[in-house]
Amino acid sequence: MAEQVSKPIPTPTLETRPYWEGCRQHELRIQKCAVCAHHQFYPRIYCSKCFSDKVEWVKISGRGKVSSFTIVRRPVSPAFKDDVPYVVALVTLEEGPTMMTNVVGCAPEKVEIGMPVEVTFEDWSDEISIAKFRPAS
Ligand code: ZN
Repeated sequence: MAEQVSKPIPTPTLETRPYWEGCRQHELRIQKCAVCAHHQFYPRIYCSKCFSDKVEWVKISGRGKVSSFTIVRRPVSPAFKDDVPYVVALVTLEEGPTMMTNVVGCAPEKVEIGMPVEVTFEDWSDEISIAKFRPAS
């Protein structure tokens, strides 16, 4: 019988904890600058546009478009061997930032650049849910 290898579970940090708390509640949250209204992802302690430290966490639409992708056919580790083939994609959110993520819920061959997608969550543990994207309904 094949050995079961568990996936590496992300560890929230001081900067990323609000993101992970949102994911746990199945809400996609990113930072928004209170001074210039710029949205940013990944989390930072300053606004990447105006350098203000007045960044706050906001729930966003969870909608975006695939801006690039690849189909992974060889697992990067034994923990992902049951997942292949799967899609690693860059999704540009309606709010502007781009996230690296997976596109799920359709055959990998159906994914195309410009495809509208919406967030969905996979619960990996009681604490950690992973934001992925599926074709928009
Ligand atoms: Zn700003």
